[in-house]
Amino acid sequence: MRGYEPLKAELGTKPDQILKAPSAKLAKLTRDGGTFPELRAERLKLITRIAKEDFGGDLKWALEKLMKDEKTPAEKRLRKVKGALKEFPGIGEPGADKILLFSGMAPIAAVPWACPGVPQRILFGHEDKNYGKGYRAAQEAIAAEVQEKFEARQRAYLLLKKHGQEICKRTKPKCEICPISRMCVYFQEGRTRWS
Ligand code: SF4
Repeated sequence: MRGYEPLKAELGTKPDQILKAPSAKLAKLTRDGGTFPELRAERLKLITRIAKEDFGGDLKWALEKLMKDEKTPAEKRLRKVKGALKEFPGIGEPGADKILLFSGMAPIAAVPWACPGVPQRILFGHEDKNYGKGYRAAQEAIAAEVQEKFEARQRAYLLLKKHGQEICKRTKPKCEICPISRMCVYFQEGRTRWS
């Protein structure tokens, strides 16, 4: 938001406003949004160009149209929408799932990009070395355990993210202070590095 608000206030966020602006101006306005502002400015232009040329300048409208196409089976519709999101730089399966869940388009069992290992440790006691397989296993586990409702799955996503960032860290989980160690297979099988 620190990068977005100045852009919105001083330039606007319509595709043509962004595409016509000099990259240096975009970098300056979005400077507080993170590192490498010049690179992000170029990326913003690329994203805007894709949104304009492939989705008529209104991505949300275009995605909702795909989702509502009743002639297409639900699973295929979802695949199409995810495919559309993956056209954008930096968006893979976890990013597409997160967007669908938090934009209120589909109550997908999204898993935070950096934390597919957390539900795998808790439920299976180990993580799959293959990221894609591990992500899908984590997703299936959440889908089986958490009600298919936006609020429930958004909450599960945020809790997993927080737990993964603060306690169940990727390389060295802090099992000694973990409040759910009793129900964690990884811990119960004695796989903790400190034990
Ligand atoms: S006990 Fe350890 S491995 Fe299990 S959830 Fe807690 S931090 Fe993660």
